[in-house]
Amino acid sequence: MPTKETYYALSTPMGVSATATIRISGPKAIDIISKMTNKPVVYFKHGVSKVLSIFNVNNNLVDKVVVVCFEGPNSYTGENMVEIHSHGNPIIVKNVFRCLSALGLRLANPGEFTKTAYLNKKIDLVQAESVFNLINSQTSGGVDISLNNLRGSLSNKLSLIQKSLIYTLSLIEYELDITETDNLKNTQTQVLSSLTETLESTKKLIKTHSTARIISEGLRVVIIGRPNVGKSTLFNALLQYDRSIVTSDPGTTRDVIEAQRNISGFSIVVVDTAGMRQTKNKAEVAGVKKTKSEMNSADIIISMVDSTHAKAVINTPKTTPTILVYNKKDLLSEDQINTNFNNNIDVYISAKTKEGIKDLLGLIEKNIELSLQPREAFYITSKRQEDILMSINKSLTKLSKRSFFELEIFAFEIKRAIDQFDWLLGKTTPDEVLDSVFSRFCVGK
Ligand code: GDP
Repeated sequence: MPTKETYYALSTPMGVSATATIRISGPKAIDIISKMTNKPVVYFKHGVSKVLSIFNVNNNLVDKVVVVCFEGPNSYTGENMVEIHSHGNPIIVKNVFRCLSALGLRLANPGEFTKTAYLNKKIDLVQAESVFNLINSQTSGGVDISLNNLRGSLSNKLSLIQKSLIYTLSLIEYELDITETDNLKNTQTQVLSSLTETLESTKKLIKTHSTARIISEGLRVVIIGRPNVGKSTLFNALLQYDRSIVTSDPGTTRDVIEAQRNISGFSIVVVDTAGMRQTKNKAEVAGVKKTKSEMNSADIIISMVDSTHAKAVINTPKTTPTILVYNKKDLLSEDQINTNFNNNIDVYISAKTKEGIKDLLGLIEKNIELSLQPREAFYITSKRQEDILMSINKSLTKLSKRSFFELEIFAFEIKRAIDQFDWLLGKTTPDEVLDSVFSRFCVGK
């Protein structure tokens, strides 16, 4: 149940700024602002901003602020809410906090405003998760996805799939209620076709999670290769500034270095790794271990080889798109390039002279495009959503493959899937799941 306490938090970052926003939510919110401003409660009208002085319990002036009140249930949390826009000096914010606490209010818990909105049915759990993603998105594409989900598009899509399962269940229940079995074959065909449709929709949605992550966070492009092939030089060339140290000593880069850049308006994180080789040096061994882990979480791998003494190419995960780059082209003659020619080489470059870098960027761009396919109208954005959809998908796939059409078993499994949709949307979600969703939020949201 929503708390009956009144709580407050700073909703803007702590620091010097033009204004700071302090939010108050709970039954006493408007009484409290009335006390702090020496104005009667009736003075405050829903959604109307007022420029007012606020005073502490000793009647000393704290600040001149803008106050906006919202009467529940027509507020973000569904409770009475007040927004105080004070001057953005941390000392003033602290003084306002002191007043609020002296008047018996407490500081909000992380995500408490959004959790209360959810508990008061202002939004469902999928929408609450999109609030988190909206605040934390690194890209404009990610913001678009979160806004679309916050508007309820994904929730509507999930409700539609759930409704079609409820209809399917009703067909089976009707069959269970009547004694004649003439219609059984017909019902079976309808149920199986509806299950196939549901499976297609859920499969599509599951696939959108990795695309949504790529759109929101950008792609990790990891450069790997043996020591001295030119990884750090390429890293710097891709970033267009010297971020990584380049030396002729093998094994210099022992840690992972990363930096962000945009390619055709798309955010990528370029990662420089320690050279892969057999070594007894402890720092290098740790570096190689990190390189392997980076390789496994890469969205695109750039596998680099020094073309002046081409060695065996390092094995990369089969499912990760890999661009094979032969470096130090400037040290090769035309003849050597032609004789060296290997069908698997994607591009010859010189990280030093920057020859071929444009072609490499073109290849990265192509791979980004491929990673974003297929484009969908809805994207799921949390591991929780993906896990539940995968579990629904698994049990319904198993059900649709059963050799016998046993009404009770079909009814049981479909009912379970319907319940899982309730869980997904937050209609029947256990407290510990809710806690883990909202604890990721900042205080003030
Ligand atoms: P890493 O160990 O793979 O990161 O390699 P570095 O980027 O540190 O480069 C090792 C050495 O190769 C340095 O002396 C670089 O100047 C040199 N190098 C890197 N790329 C090229 C290139 O395209 N051409 C030439 N001639 N030298 C290069």
